[in-house]
Amino acid sequence: MQELQALYQEVIIDHNRNPRNHHVMLDPTYQADGFNPLCGDKLHLFLKTKNDLIEEACFTGGGCAISTASASLMTEFLKGKTLTEAKTMFSNFHKAIIQNDHAAEIKLGKLSVLTGVKAFPARVKCATLAWHTLKTAIERQHEVASTE
Ligand code: ZN
Repeated sequence: MQELQALYQEVIIDHNRNPRNHHVMLDPTYQADGFNPLCGDKLHLFLKTKNDLIEEACFTGGGCAISTASASLMTEFLKGKTLTEAKTMFSNFHKAIIQNDHAAEIKLGKLSVLTGVKAFPARVKCATLAWHTLKTAIERQHEVASTE
């Protein structure tokens, strides 16, 4: 189990040092700002969709290692998914971290590396910020997401 946790740490460290999809998008379909005042994490999320399919996802900004790694992993996951699949994954991610729902955690795949934060309540909002920003982007364009 300790080995597994060490592996999870490696993934988070890697995505923080070399965040994937960390750049501006000039012609997004959806975008939103996210801010976590507890930690100071700040990011801007861009999505390009065609019909219901997410063709591109990227972000700028970031913050602590957890928030940056979470945004990096999330944008990696989103490419090629539908908006419906993205919303379902938001729900699974939220349930796994906030409600400690094991069934939801199993559905996370690679994203489960972030569920370790549930043992550290102060970091939960760092891990969920990118996902709240995604939800804001999809549901209400151009508004600032809040982790509250
Ligand atoms: Zn943070």
